[in-house]
Amino acid sequence: MTPGANPPARTWVEISRTRLAQNFRNIREAVGQSVTLAPVVKADAYGHGAVEVSRVLVAEGARWLSVSNVEEGVALREAGLECRILVMGGVLPFERAAAFEHGLTPVVHSFGELRALDEAGIAGPVHFKVDTGMTRLGARAEPEEVVEALRSLRTLRVEGLMSHFASAEHFPSDQTASQIAKFGAVCDALRTAGIEPDLLHVSSTNGVSFGHCDAWHSLVRPGLALYGYLSPSSGGAPPPMFSVTPVLSWLARLVAVKDIPEGTLVGYGGRFRADRAMRIGVITAGYADGVPHRLSNRGHVVAAGRLAPILGAVSMDLTTIDVSESPQLCVGDAVTLIGREGEVSMDAARIADVAGEISYSVLCGIGNRVKRLYV
Ligand SMILES: *Cc1c(COP(=O)(O)O)cnc(C)c1O
Repeated sequence: MTPGANPPARTWVEISRTRLAQNFRNIREAVGQSVTLAPVVKADAYGHGAVEVSRVLVAEGARWLSVSNVEEGVALREAGLECRILVMGGVLPFERAAAFEHGLTPVVHSFGELRALDEAGIAGPVHFKVDTGMTRLGARAEPEEVVEALRSLRTLRVEGLMSHFASAEHFPSDQTASQIAKFGAVCDALRTAGIEPDLLHVSSTNGVSFGHCDAWHSLVRPGLALYGYLSPSSGGAPPPMFSVTPVLSWLARLVAVKDIPEGTLVGYGGRFRADRAMRIGVITAGYADGVPHRLSNRGHVVAAGRLAPILGAVSMDLTTIDVSESPQLCVGDAVTLIGREGEVSMDAARIADVAGEISYSVLCGIGNRVKRLYV
């Protein structure tokens, strides 16, 4: 029943290069050839392994990658990736030298930083971010101030102008329309002043998948969709512009199987009480591996092709499941935390739903102890 490899590992993820490549192609097809893709591989490619994922994407034709910080960008350079790399999460003064030495492209978030780089005689290129309503990074500024700031630069080349949406999946909100309008006003003011950055970009997965075509401009920065997930939408969102399939499967092994009588308390705090004689299995992944603690007594894994409830508290290294329905399961057998066995599957979105999280945090939460295998 277990898909894929049977490695000598206690818990591992299998990452499908084929599905990753297919998701990338589906996004590219949706936006068309005139829009550049800068796929997002921050946070170790959402837990999928930034170097391997980047190699697949570059082989598929990606000319840009997006990361959060300089260290992530340097790691890609050291692995031999030569494409453009956008550093989106801010470059602190102590990271500046490394950023430019490694040919990374920082996003600049304030006029002060723009001036400091220019006064230091740095050529760039950089991208400049305006805050159009997300209220996180980016300059909160009137269009004229952006024009003035870019016009007064001496050495620094601003290759791109960008922003980021707060609610692109949330259709009752007018926040996205307002952000699009604000970004458009900055672009218009710059154009009027004869300043036209090569690349304009605001859209991540939600901006693309929910068809905010007027927000694609010349580049899009999809992350989550590459890995095979789309955000849940609300309020009459159109159907997604493209489909994707999860790239990652997550497995762990049974390290113990035992029969317990009715009335037995299971795990920390005795939070589960057997209401009948049961067979339980203990699997080799816990919250230190990224199994959300909130799945205690609520989540399921797939064992022997059927959903097996998690019993009691998820612990650090181990999680207990009900295998009463699958007496054939033995110590050493693999079970699926994310992935498919025959007709039955579990994915990060459903885990997130039960755990009160988001699919992003479930994927990024898969720990270092979990071996990454590429298939
Ligand atoms: C993380 C991030 C993205 C990618 O977002 P997804 O929702 O995963 O597509 C794009 N742009 C910025 C600025 C980000 O921080």
